[in-house]
Amino acid sequence: MFAFFRISLFLVLTTSSLLITQLQAEQDGKIMALLIDGQNNHNWRVTTPLIQQTLEGCGRFDVDVLTSPAKGESLDDFNPDFSKYDVVVSNYNGQLWNDETQRAFEAFVSGGGGFVSVHAADNSFPQWRAYNRMIGLGGWGGRSEKDGPYVRWKDGEKRFTRDLSPGRGGTHGKRVPFLVVVRDSDHPITKGLPSTFMQTADELYGKLRGPAENMHVLATGFSAPATGGTGEHEPLLMTIQFGEGRVFHTTLGHDDQAMQGLAFQFTLQRGTEWAATGTVTQPEVTGETLTSDQPAVRDPAGVVPAELTAIPDVMGKGWKRLFNGSDFSGWSQKNGTATYRVENGTIVGKTAQGSPNSFMCTNREYENFELTFEVKDDPGLNSGVQIRSLSKTDFKNGRVHGPQVEIENSPGESGYIYSEGTGRGWITKPQPVKDAYQNGEWNRFVIRAYGDRIQTWVNGKPIADIRDTESSRKGFIGLQVHGIKRDTGPFEVRWRDIRIRELQ
Ligand code: ZN
Repeated sequence: MFAFFRISLFLVLTTSSLLITQLQAEQDGKIMALLIDGQNNHNWRVTTPLIQQTLEGCGRFDVDVLTSPAKGESLDDFNPDFSKYDVVVSNYNGQLWNDETQRAFEAFVSGGGGFVSVHAADNSFPQWRAYNRMIGLGGWGGRSEKDGPYVRWKDGEKRFTRDLSPGRGGTHGKRVPFLVVVRDSDHPITKGLPSTFMQTADELYGKLRGPAENMHVLATGFSAPATGGTGEHEPLLMTIQFGEGRVFHTTLGHDDQAMQGLAFQFTLQRGTEWAATGTVTQPEVTGETLTSDQPAVRDPAGVVPAELTAIPDVMGKGWKRLFNGSDFSGWSQKNGTATYRVENGTIVGKTAQGSPNSFMCTNREYENFELTFEVKDDPGLNSGVQIRSLSKTDFKNGRVHGPQVEIENSPGESGYIYSEGTGRGWITKPQPVKDAYQNGEWNRFVIRAYGDRIQTWVNGKPIADIRDTESSRKGFIGLQVHGIKRDTGPFEVRWRDIRIRELQ
């Protein structure tokens, strides 16, 4: 039920906010990438954020994630608008897309769009001919000699061979580190890379079969028999020309561990830029960084600048006032009937008998940002501040929902994050800090939302630091006055000095 909700929510989002995202991205020169997941025999919920972080971390991409209906559900309405993007990246290995979507995708790529197939995306769609021409080679799914040759590097002959002998397509040995050997150092993707470099423990795909038309193998890896491999130099990185479109195919990236490998990250970043634009503008990577004696690893989230891990400096530059101190211009009340008034530059929310939760919400939506405010809350009143939240007529008739940074008197959960209105409950767990909030005083809250990471501080104390892959990455900010029990209250909550600093 919840998964289905997320999908419909996303489709609503795509119509309302993607255009804006796209315009912003075009303005700052970023490549627009659509990352598709939703079905995969691999853990796409874990790997999609890593792919997104890897791409966005190099500063060249703005990535939207599109999650398909779950396995077994109908894909009749799964019709992504590929045309908005420069490149489509697939982390998808599942049910066949509907005819219309297949044709749209073929038209997108053959018309000059970029496509990147990551690891098990090349297991997908054995029955879809055009898709197999795009990826060049694929594995499993009943693939055999009917689908095309094995393509291998023969070290003795110093050339690639195409082997049409009978046999299944797709295999791998144990997950071990292996050497990536560049076979063409003149291609834009590989030109700025060392000639050999180690990938951390990963599946080394072998025996892939496919049409292999207009395919160019950039790098191979030796699939060692000692660890269950084929004894062949198997293609790892490939480019394929499909009509006017460019395809980058990487077989690397089985799981989160494999995606820690710099070999995976740098080749994905460069390959995706090339697929999108035909060139690579990213800086050269030397053998000191991308080492060949042992695998170099890095948390993809670690590409976020270091200054984004410490508490934001609320006295620093770049902050903008969200509340003008005198009226509610730029804000709208949603859901309940609690009252909000302005008093001496402070927003005062007051409970109303019989009202559900009320929210005073920014009209604008925010994606990556730092937010700060001061708050003072009557004992007995639960409150909170919504971030990246939504209110849509087709979801519970406009019910405000999304991550809420909790506000309540100590001992309590102030600073922890609750998924308002979704039935999901607390996003943060465990919640050991109960006393950061000072009752009867002004309390300084600081929040950072960047990618799927949300961090909070209350009075300088770190409270939450989570990765939330389920909530929307973009939405409004809302000040909550909670509903109250009959014959209690009225209670008040006050906010002041509400400021935001948007992050790229
Ligand atoms: Zn795998």
